[in-house]
Amino acid sequence: MSSYTGIIEHYRSRLPFGPQVRAIALGEGRTPLIRLHNLPRDIGFEGELYVKFEGLNPTGSFKDRGMTAAVTQAVHEGARAIICASTGNTSAAAAAYAARAGITAFVLIPEGKIALGKLAQAIAHGAVVVQIAGNFDDGMRLVKEVAESAPVAIVNSINPYRLQGQKTAAFEIVEALGRAPDYHCLPVGNAGNITAYWIGYAEMSGWETAANSLPEALRRYDTHAVVGTRPKMVGYQAAGSAPFLRGGPVEHPETVATAIRIGHPQSWDRAWIAQKESGGWFDECTDAEILATQRRLAEREGVFCEPASAVSLCGALRDIQSGRIPQGATVVCTLTGNGLKDPDIVMKNGLQGLIRVPAERGAVEKALLDRLS
Ligand SMILES: *Cc1c(COP(=O)(O)O)cnc(C)c1O
Repeated sequence: MSSYTGIIEHYRSRLPFGPQVRAIALGEGRTPLIRLHNLPRDIGFEGELYVKFEGLNPTGSFKDRGMTAAVTQAVHEGARAIICASTGNTSAAAAAYAARAGITAFVLIPEGKIALGKLAQAIAHGAVVVQIAGNFDDGMRLVKEVAESAPVAIVNSINPYRLQGQKTAAFEIVEALGRAPDYHCLPVGNAGNITAYWIGYAEMSGWETAANSLPEALRRYDTHAVVGTRPKMVGYQAAGSAPFLRGGPVEHPETVATAIRIGHPQSWDRAWIAQKESGGWFDECTDAEILATQRRLAEREGVFCEPASAVSLCGALRDIQSGRIPQGATVVCTLTGNGLKDPDIVMKNGLQGLIRVPAERGAVEKALLDRLS
């Protein structure tokens, strides 16, 4: 048995890649499903609450699952360059997988509102980084326009291979639990990931969802029905960037959770299908609630995710407390990205943890004893 190389080799029979297609892989996937203990106890929840920590993928976000698939297909079709608009994590993943494949990545990022770690990744991997005087939605529009004439493959989640790769996270969860959870909670930006999980859960239950847009001709994979149940899909947005709550596009989205600062979700229709078919819902969290949850998770459970990721847990904890998610339920929250991507946020909001003392034994001892008393 050879060692694990990534989702394409592992799930090839369930992905639209024939045996001859060479995988461009970095060992993505197989991320831990961590059962939380302290937070459920804090709120008196007697069900099971898990986080799927996607921040432990090679570039630190779930985007790697989609990017290995999109870049594998692009290279298979002979592409020499890929392009994407990004709030940060897509560009980091595109840059890494393009480097791995030996092709060029062009990434369009919004001016200012991008976490430093993500920008550093795109630069480190040698992507051509184009900063535009606009937001993600402007970047997305420009990418579509440019790709009409330039010989570049779009690797945003409008590329159907992205969602095919991302659906494998649902496979892993069903395999780990032995069944689907009752509720699956996600942050929603472009709404590709909530769609991808729904496709994955549907396939695992041997059922076809209307949200799967992959052309019939490309569905060469087998279906491996394991169990009959599917979760309710619950999507949470940041209050300043919540088109699914407003019922239409948001022109000037604003939130501290920059990864989901998106006003025109590209998978609008399919995310509604996932919500309706599954019997789930959409809701929103304020920036203050998001940052408080990011911190609580890090302090109480030892898991450090980025602000956009904390949105899923933030909403889930609230809905558990209100009873909308019932006692005894099994709940999985996707933590989409690693907290290390965006250290500035923590340094701005958590500096009271820092104590300055002279370099003397007595001063250090006093600082310790003050804290222990
Ligand atoms: C991309 C991203 C999201 C949003 O996912 P969508 O598929 O666009 O809804 C959420 N969190 C993080 C960290 C991301 O990078």
